[in-house]
Amino acid sequence: MANDIGNPTGGHCILCRNPSRELTEEHIFPDAAGGSIKKFILCKRCNSRLGTKIDAPYVNQPIVQLARAALGIKGRAKRVPSPFSTVHEIDAPIGKLQIKLDSQFRPVVQPRAPEVSVTEDGKVVVSLSRDLSQKNSVPKTVRTTLQRFFRSTLGKSLNWTEQEQKQAIREAVEAATNADAESLPVAEMLHEQWTIELDKIFAEQAKVIYEVCSLEFGDKFLNSAQAGEFRAYLTSILNDDAATPSLEDVSRRLSMANVIPPSLDPVIKLFTDGERHKYHIVIVTASGVVCSMLGMGATLALDSSVADINTYIGRIYRCNVETGSSEILGIEEHGGNEV
Ligand SMILES: [Zn+2]
Repeated sequence: MANDIGNPTGGHCILCRNPSRELTEEHIFPDAAGGSIKKFILCKRCNSRLGTKIDAPYVNQPIVQLARAALGIKGRAKRVPSPFSTVHEIDAPIGKLQIKLDSQFRPVVQPRAPEVSVTEDGKVVVSLSRDLSQKNSVPKTVRTTLQRFFRSTLGKSLNWTEQEQKQAIREAVEAATNADAESLPVAEMLHEQWTIELDKIFAEQAKVIYEVCSLEFGDKFLNSAQAGEFRAYLTSILNDDAATPSLEDVSRRLSMANVIPPSLDPVIKLFTDGERHKYHIVIVTASGVVCSMLGMGATLALDSSVADINTYIGRIYRCNVETGSSEILGIEEHGGNEV
């Protein structure tokens, strides 16, 4: 069976290790970020807490959202997010315009409700804003807006005859139909600022590495001091501990770094066909773990007591988020067959 490496974790939740809790299916890489490798390794409670406190903050990082938008990765809501959710306000000759970027990063004018005003020389003017793509709906909107206006108290107070009202509506609709679209160099006016929370990305990578090591080395890893440090770190996040140590401290305690050293770069490149931004991949060897998620990397130096260097052959967990395909491969097979 594809992806079946059994469950060497003794049938207990790998996080709380409570033997009486039934196991549920965990996405090693978050499914909202295109992950499709699933294993029964967590109890329901730990699974859902990791989802809320570690997966969700990771998936919501702008850099992950950007990857999701670019690669068309739908989340649980079956929707590709837009990483650019800011509403920009710019000054245009016709007044303030509100603009958002759509999923293809095109600026779209946000519709502004139509307003009717009466000029000093007694003309009625409808002002509204619509994106160019909605130009065809404008005449109809102008017509209904004015019809409603003439039924309102303000409209009635003008004391226009029905003839005059019809004439005004006809002229306004005609003007709206023939209006030239104003073209503004909008893109140059839009600026967004992003904050990338490295600790959220690090926490996700630590979760992934912890899960993979548990699957690969079972109790030998789970009973190690290193695994204890991972549990302490992950649990501190789940509990919202104010005393969660700094990234630097955590890195040292876990023997984990949030970079991939240049010497390992070619390995990632090889197993991601040179397109690491499209992959979640974890490569496990007897001495360490390399993890790259959508191009963001981390490494773990594995405690020497965990794996037997002479017998452990190594494994690759790989998921192409664009195609949705995933596999767990033995390294000695040179990326050939599934285990
Ligand atoms: Zn649990």
